[in-house]
Amino acid sequence: LNADASADTAQPARPASADTVIRMVNVQKWYGQFQVLRDVNLEVRRGERIVICGPSGSGKSTMLRCINRLEEHDGGEIVVNRIRVDHDQRNVSVVRRDVGMVFQHFNLFPHLTILENCMLAPVWSRKYTRAEAREVAMAYLERVRIPEQADKYPSQLSGGQQQRVAIARALCMGPKVMLFDEPTSALDPEMVKEVLDTLVSLAEDGTTMLLVTHEMNFARQVASRVVFMDHGSIVEDTPPERFFHNPSQERIKAFLGRLL
Ligand code: ADP
Ligand code: MG
Repeated sequence: LNADASADTAQPARPASADTVIRMVNVQKWYGQFQVLRDVNLEVRRGERIVICGPSGSGKSTMLRCINRLEEHDGGEIVVNRIRVDHDQRNVSVVRRDVGMVFQHFNLFPHLTILENCMLAPVWSRKYTRAEAREVAMAYLERVRIPEQADKYPSQLSGGQQQRVAIARALCMGPKVMLFDEPTSALDPEMVKEVLDTLVSLAEDGTTMLLVTHEMNFARQVASRVVFMDHGSIVEDTPPERFFHNPSQERIKAFLGRLL
């Protein structure tokens, strides 16, 4: 049926525990001759909050983007909720519904109101009625504490408010895991806190999340694990206490030193 996929299917997925949400096994990716992901192995269980950090260019965004196939990996295996992320577009569609993603730049649709931004995917992809989608959207706008902005357009909101809308919009799809790629790094300093507070509150509710950030106080407070990447590899995957107090490698000490 699909010649490209046959090499992938030759090796069956290793059975994962029932609460595994994401499993990456020996994931490889190249951009031309440049290897951007090397032997990436990562398992994310339900309720885990994993902070990913590491130098610029180390492959953090690429790793996140491979999970919902915004980028294609070239080797190894990625499984999300028992569905293989592969050449089969049907699998990709299922995975994308289960994976919410929030980017550094909020990527709201400028010509739609806040409410319409939040209703769009549930109506088109989840087949909600407009009334259902509106109800869900308002519930999540309450959740990120900006229901009063529902009828405004993105350009009328501050950056911090827009990022909270982007978070609400992703939550409206009922994702099983949320991916955040530096959600506060494009914000003015005075707006970082309101977005971090939203993320802390999601974490406290048990939302499964993978979050690329350099906000190390946040990592210390809410991460169940900290993953450190360098040159396309995961070189540390450890609870925050150890990451901050007893880093195993000089390059992590150097990285933390630069952030101070
Ligand atoms: P990070 O998020 O850790 O800063 P990225 O995943 O964005 O790292 O990028 C990792 C490396 O891959 C960088 O060296 C970057 O220049 C390179 N890269 C990213 N996207 C592309 C692309 N589309 N084509 C070629 N190289 C890319
Ligand atoms: Mg990045």
